[in-house]
Amino acid sequence: QAKSAGRRTVIFFDERMQRQADKRLKMNNDLRNALNNQELMLYFQPQHLVSKGSLIGAEALVRWKPEGKNIVSPDQFIPMAEESDLIIDIGMWVLDQSFMYMAKWQEMGLTLPELSVNVSAKQFHHPDFVEQVEEIMNRYSLETARFNLEITESVVLGHAEETVRKMEQLKEAGLRFTIDDFGAGYSSLSYLKKLPVDELKIDRSFICNIPRDTRDMAIVEAVLAIARHLGYTVTAEGVETPQQLEFLRKQECSFYQGYLASKPLPADAMARYIAKYQKQNRLSF
Ligand code: C2E
Ligand code: MG
Ligand code: MG
Ligand code: MG
Repeated sequence: QAKSAGRRTVIFFDERMQRQADKRLKMNNDLRNALNNQELMLYFQPQHLVSKGSLIGAEALVRWKPEGKNIVSPDQFIPMAEESDLIIDIGMWVLDQSFMYMAKWQEMGLTLPELSVNVSAKQFHHPDFVEQVEEIMNRYSLETARFNLEITESVVLGHAEETVRKMEQLKEAGLRFTIDDFGAGYSSLSYLKKLPVDELKIDRSFICNIPRDTRDMAIVEAVLAIARHLGYTVTAEGVETPQQLEFLRKQECSFYQGYLASKPLPADAMARYIAKYQKQNRLSF
């Protein structure tokens, strides 16, 4: 405790805390400016049918490229953005850009069947969330069923009724919902029963040690069985090896994404990726 510690220790502790606070404040300011300075961008990770390998969609993943610096991964700035209200502006920017790219690709004659967009809990619970999403949907004349919102189990915590209500409103407008990182958070089967979701996304942590870890394989099998009975499709994330894909094929998992197929790609590379599959008649809707 500070009281019993020596004076020097207390001062050192304060300085370190201060430095950390300064650093966070600076990063927060930089991030706020990043939106205005167009330093944020979207990458896209392709999603494929496990059975045939055809292209079924992509997940939009945000990146931050500060001027003169390396790309910062979302794990390093999304949690910080979630502590302030910045996540709301960033999240809406991501959704708007997602629609923008789908419209742009469509104009180029490229049809990506589906695009998944991450929505953070704080963004989802903002009072204007549904209206803001509807505003974006109205601005682009795209089929809303081609968009999929990924929420995590943490969205539901303590807000079950509000969550169901908002999801139902957006589903009525045509959007689809996925539970992201399924199994890694506060999974509860009672939520799963209540929520109007379409899809489960099995967290990478259950996939990465297949086939070495037979317990992970048992969990994936069990999740697939639950999903089948509830009528949800399943995407496996983080598939890196042919063995993992083979296991998912045997277990009749619907979709996958992961480095085995492709890392997340910048928009222009994603356009070429769609074009390649479209030309080979290997798009699945
Ligand atoms: P997530 O939604 O679970 O996204 C999947 C993450 O796994 C991505 O990391 C992706 O690059 C990575 N990944 C995919 N396949 C593989 C693989 O085969 N091996 C390995 N090692 N990793 C793989 P990324 O892009 O760094 O994003 C991290 C997290 O940041 C996302 O996890 C998501 O929770 C969050 N995030 C990203 N973009 C957004 C966004 O626009 N809004 C919000 N709220 N969160 C976002
Ligand atoms: Mg996701
Ligand atoms: Mg995920
Ligand atoms: Mg994950």
